[in-house]
Amino acid sequence: MSLAVVNPRTGEADYSIEPLDETAIATVASRLRAGQGAWAARTAGERGAVLHRLAEAIGRHRTALAAALIADTGRAAISKIEVEAMIRALQRWADSAPGIIARAEISDRQTAIPTITASTRLVPYQLIGIISPWNFPLTLALIDAIPALAAGCAVIVKPSEVTPRFMRPLAAAIAEVPELADVVALIEGDGATGAALIGQVDFIAFTGSVATGRKVGEAAARAFIPASLELGGKDPMLVLASADPVKAAETALRASVLNTGQACQSIERVYVAREIAGPFLEALVNGAKAVRLNHPDVNAGDIGPFIFARQAEIVQAQIDDAVARGAKLLAGGQVETLDGGKYLRPTVLVDVTPDMPIMAEETFGPVIPVTLFDSVDEAVAHANSGIFGLSAAVIAGTVEEAEAVAVRLRAGGVSINDGSLTGLVWEAEKSSFGASGIGPSRMGDSGLLRFFRKQALIRQSGAALPLAAYSEEALSG
Ligand code: NAD
Repeated sequence: MSLAVVNPRTGEADYSIEPLDETAIATVASRLRAGQGAWAARTAGERGAVLHRLAEAIGRHRTALAAALIADTGRAAISKIEVEAMIRALQRWADSAPGIIARAEISDRQTAIPTITASTRLVPYQLIGIISPWNFPLTLALIDAIPALAAGCAVIVKPSEVTPRFMRPLAAAIAEVPELADVVALIEGDGATGAALIGQVDFIAFTGSVATGRKVGEAAARAFIPASLELGGKDPMLVLASADPVKAAETALRASVLNTGQACQSIERVYVAREIAGPFLEALVNGAKAVRLNHPDVNAGDIGPFIFARQAEIVQAQIDDAVARGAKLLAGGQVETLDGGKYLRPTVLVDVTPDMPIMAEETFGPVIPVTLFDSVDEAVAHANSGIFGLSAAVIAGTVEEAEAVAVRLRAGGVSINDGSLTGLVWEAEKSSFGASGIGPSRMGDSGLLRFFRKQALIRQSGAALPLAAYSEEALSG
């Protein structure tokens, strides 16, 4: 049965997908399992050459791909950035994977037993399942798929049913690289499709909300496969008294409202030193009020509509609840419906308290609740409260002062004298803390190495011991 897909700029259902059922997924899975052997038998350099050809093919389809992403998400510039960034990601993994694999494999190492040497081989998982969300549709569909392919795995990708339009142009690009025909599949579908996929693969790489991540983790445990869970956050930014308040406000604004706040690494709470709170808030509010919606022209403005209309309701409910409990709105605050799309101008709130959902739950919208603090210890305690631990940011007069506070934060990635840098930097390995995720880092070398099992080859060059060597008599006295 087809599933209708709503356009975020019009509110109209103008597209549809055909979800695969369990039997259809099983057919795809067995085709890919059959194809994976030959793919893994190629050298990492040969696989890299194929990934370079995929980068070229995506380049040839960049206009169609960007157009589909614009229809999926209602924003133009970030859609184009997504396409170019994925071309670069393919090139980067294609070039770096052979060296990373060579450095991680160990051959012929002497063990503590003089006659025994050991090697460690990397054996790719046969079939990886990828389940991705709607906020960066192309990036999050491919971010784990590319290193998995570079490792020699086959991959089934199940993107979000909210933003599936990019899949057809992406499939057209993949079809121009015949070596990938039997190792990559994109499948359309919703949560039921994602749940069915888990039973068909050897490793599940999931990006999405904590609530769904928990279900995926439980299903993976039942299927007895590893799960990499990249989940939500409630990222804090600390602005210390030594910071330049105007520059810090500019950074806080960008890090909170970019992509309409629909980024896992968005700043969702700001703690500012009372000494500089006046100029900081003044600059933040002025900046927030100057942000332009990309309506009516998708190619003009700073932020787009909510990609998923339901998210607008969640964000509005959190704002209304905070205001009802005494929070004060300094900018924004009301979702606007324009030609069927749902938009929210950057919303700045003060007089918030830690128990409000807007301070404790993921918002995923352009909302900046600001809390004043009197001591760094108090700010660190605020930042470390709650269930999440995805990322954080600290701004101070010097990098050294900010870094001394950064190491006290329970978060997988901390931006120092900037915000949301984890969305830009691929090299730095990081783990999620708390409910923000489980599993090895998707960044850095581990982003590739997590797709291998290790196989030890242990060689006896002397005489193998007989059972008698372990007899009660041999070991007594
Ligand atoms: P979601 O959890 O609702 O959906 C994510 C994916 O899971 C979709 O493809 C969906 O179809 C699928 N799904 C739903 N139910 C399922 C089930 N029972 N079994 C298997 N799959 C199922 O998330 P969303 O609303 O699409 O995305 C927003 C969330 O993603 C936010 O919480 C955000 O923070 C998070 N996110 C995290 C990262 C990260 O790197 N940590 C990056 C981007 C987004």
